[in-house]
Amino acid sequence: MTTAARLLAEASDVTLLAHVNPDADALGSALAVGLALHRRGAVVRVSFGEPAVVPESLRDLDVAGLLVPPSEVPAAPPLLVVMDTGSVERLGPLGGRVAAAADGGGQVLVVDHHASNTRFGTHHYVDDRAEATAVLAARLLDALGVPLDEPIARCLYAGLVTDTRSFRHASAQTHVLAARLLSAGVDPEATTRPLLDSHPFGWLAMLSTVLGGARLERDAARGLGLVHATVRLADAEGLRSEEVDSVVDLVRTTVEAEVAAVLKETASGAWSVSLRAVGKIDVGAAAQALGGGGHRLAAGFTAEGPAERVLAALRDALDGAPEL
Ligand code: AMP
Ligand code: MN
Ligand code: MN
Repeated sequence: MTTAARLLAEASDVTLLAHVNPDADALGSALAVGLALHRRGAVVRVSFGEPAVVPESLRDLDVAGLLVPPSEVPAAPPLLVVMDTGSVERLGPLGGRVAAAADGGGQVLVVDHHASNTRFGTHHYVDDRAEATAVLAARLLDALGVPLDEPIARCLYAGLVTDTRSFRHASAQTHVLAARLLSAGVDPEATTRPLLDSHPFGWLAMLSTVLGGARLERDAARGLGLVHATVRLADAEGLRSEEVDSVVDLVRTTVEAEVAAVLKETASGAWSVSLRAVGKIDVGAAAQALGGGGHRLAAGFTAEGPAERVLAALRDALDGAPEL
């Protein structure tokens, strides 16, 4: 058995963490492994640093009530498992638990698929060829001999379907894994629809405003084109993070642009920026140059100041980013 699987098999108290603003891959992977260990009798908790609420579309994955607020994460957990998180900063307010766990004699297992992973744990299961952390979680569960029942399989499927863009970026092996998850009872439409295809009516008005303000800069991104849109706090009032995060998937369909960017205002003058590329520019490198990270074709960073200044910095970073 691998060291990572052995750590999980021997643990009686396990804390699993997802990155801030967790997505289905981070939370699904943590809950899948958490559920399996909970069934084996371990004390298990799953958490993330912020925001204070669990994204609505992910709540149903937690069938055993494993999610706890950050205040209930032990000061120095004996085993901390950090999922889908490329750097300790991406744990936000819970980042300090990494050093605290290690200093207290505990172990920190990092399970991730970001090429930029900084190896901040005591043990690492990092494979950037995996399309999702859920693929790595499934391999760990196989190593532990855990049968994939429906709730566990659903958590894994949620991570897979979102990170592979509905299996478009999935290898033959990952389709085989998906087939196993369906055989375990996962309903693909019922699982996917709340994650990718469900928004309140107010979403349409928000899109109308935000997409109406989108700009195309043909000369940007080394002449390959940049399209960008901005979601201000007022645009997103009363809407969930799911609605705001969906915008980039529309903006990215612009054929004239290699790169799509969406500036999402998180507090007055504070931004979380989503970047996507079609295949010719490494936006992960651009995001890293701006203090963020991610994958070659999907990345992000945070910034403060006027939107125009954030865009100027982004244009520079894209001109300096490697072509693929
Ligand atoms: P998003 O645009 O939020 O869906 O994020 C796309 C990818 O970029 C994800 O794989 C994240 O891991 C990564 N990412 C987004 N924001 C940041 C950030 N502030 N720092 C590091 N990585 C980020
Ligand atoms: Mn993620
Ligand atoms: Mn992921």
